[in-house]
Amino acid sequence: GRITQTMEIAMVCTRVILLILILSLCSPYKFIQSPMDFGPLNLLPTTTTASSDFGRILFHSPSAVLKPQSTRDISLLLSFLSASSLDKVTVAARGAGHSIHGQAQALDGIVVEMSSLPSAIEFYKGDVSYADVSGGALWIELLEQSLKLGLAPRSLTDYLYLTIGGTLSNAGISGQTFKHGPQISNVLQLEVVTGRGEIVTCSLTKDEELFNAVLGGLGQFGIITRARILLQEAPHKVKWVRAFYDDFGAFTKDQELLVSMPDSVDYVEGFIVLNERSLHSSSIAFPANVDFNPDFGAMSSPKIYYCVEFAVHVHQTTNTNAVEHAVRVISGQMSHVASQLYSVEVSYFDFLNRVRMEEMSLRSSGLWEVHHPWLNMFVPKAGINGFRDLLMDSISPDNFEGLILIYPLLRHKWDTNTSVVLPETGSTDQAMYVVGILRSANPNHPVDGCSHRCLRELLLRHRHVADAAAGGLGAKQYLAHHPTPGGWRRHFGRRWERFAERKARFDPQRILGPGQGIFPKGS
Ligand code: FAD
Repeated sequence: GRITQTMEIAMVCTRVILLILILSLCSPYKFIQSPMDFGPLNLLPTTTTASSDFGRILFHSPSAVLKPQSTRDISLLLSFLSASSLDKVTVAARGAGHSIHGQAQALDGIVVEMSSLPSAIEFYKGDVSYADVSGGALWIELLEQSLKLGLAPRSLTDYLYLTIGGTLSNAGISGQTFKHGPQISNVLQLEVVTGRGEIVTCSLTKDEELFNAVLGGLGQFGIITRARILLQEAPHKVKWVRAFYDDFGAFTKDQELLVSMPDSVDYVEGFIVLNERSLHSSSIAFPANVDFNPDFGAMSSPKIYYCVEFAVHVHQTTNTNAVEHAVRVISGQMSHVASQLYSVEVSYFDFLNRVRMEEMSLRSSGLWEVHHPWLNMFVPKAGINGFRDLLMDSISPDNFEGLILIYPLLRHKWDTNTSVVLPETGSTDQAMYVVGILRSANPNHPVDGCSHRCLRELLLRHRHVADAAAGGLGAKQYLAHHPTPGGWRRHFGRRWERFAERKARFDPQRILGPGQGIFPKGS
């Protein structure tokens, strides 16, 4: 058996060497011409998908794509590359490619298409229920299958067409995070292929350092091939409530009130209402007759509004009156604009899949496949007013396309042993905010088309906001993008040493995650 295995590895290595030789001789463009059969490794020429992402800002073409059929395929590739002296070849796992700044791209390297892994999901239903699922599976797939058993992941993202491995490499946050923590706080075990090619099953009780490194690890230490995700009993429906505000202080105070009630509230988010368009687009999935027609002021003195959104789960056994009563008790303590509170009851699946409706609507008007210069920041509670001012100084409400999300998270739900970076704070404040500036820039708009110059300008403005907020308010980027390794060091702050040590231990050849730009090869 061992001899056969050694021969097999030797054969695969020969093929990979051949590939690398070809890559070094051919320009990527020549290489694109014909698909190549590399036997068990199934290495293919690059595709436009492998060199693009949701951001549509960077398009770095890899030299080849691996469509792994098993964890072992990934292990063979990484074992070979880490043992070889071909020190220029990098590898990026690509989940659903919903990054903004090329994080899942590998210029002249190899992109591993995680969706090729077999997607069978295994469930365990008991006191603690969980699912074992491929790192390349989408959250929507896990949700759909688990709902058939009356279960659902405890912590999700707003949009579910993202992969398990992709969001676990960041954090995975949404309106449930205040209650259950981010997705990285709801994983029991991972199967990971390290940058050395080793296949390791890790958890808090086995190979804990790798487990913690990979969670929020930006794809730097290993490729997540399987994950054990905590599940809970799924509600039948949700009571979904929205309330409008004309005062930022009242808006944040009510959000903080809501996250202090985890026994009665299951979801809390919120957004800025900048203009009529943002009022309309945010209502696509919310099936209520919203009669909120505020005065948005003039271009020179715009007025903006805010919307708090919360939800309460309704189980099949829950008495409808009890839910109505609970919502009345909660909203009775809130300080929204008089009579501007709306509530609807929707199925749990429709609620969780709400962004898909927005996607469909944007797709139908050609506004999905446009540039997305997004910026997400974690802001300490003490700095949220300052951040709002900074942000409003950098945008014109009348022509902003997209959404600005703001909602509080609670620190104690995050494990600081993972690789995720949160704002440092001297205070005992549990609350911090996430602010998502989810901007669309349509290059094809007949009047306001956003060309390269305009896109560059928006990116510069976001960089200014990110730098000012990091320097002055102690904020940290989520789904961060830093153009230089120095920027990354500042981002990690006192956590840099640990992150770098983990890199040296699990991916010493710096093969993985080149698109993040944290550890450029040869530097
Ligand atoms: P990719 O973009 O493919 O990869 C992201 C990074 O992870 C890359 O560095 C890649 O190399 C690495 N990676 C991918 N798979 C693996 C793996 N299996 N093992 C190791 N590394 C891997 N985020 C939230 O937290 N909450 C939200 O509500 C939310 N909503 C979103 C809505 C939209 C419309 C979009 C576009 C993004 C949203 N995001 C949200 C951001 C999203 O979580 C990240 O962009 C995430 O990286 C997307 O997952 P993906 O599968 O597309 O990853």
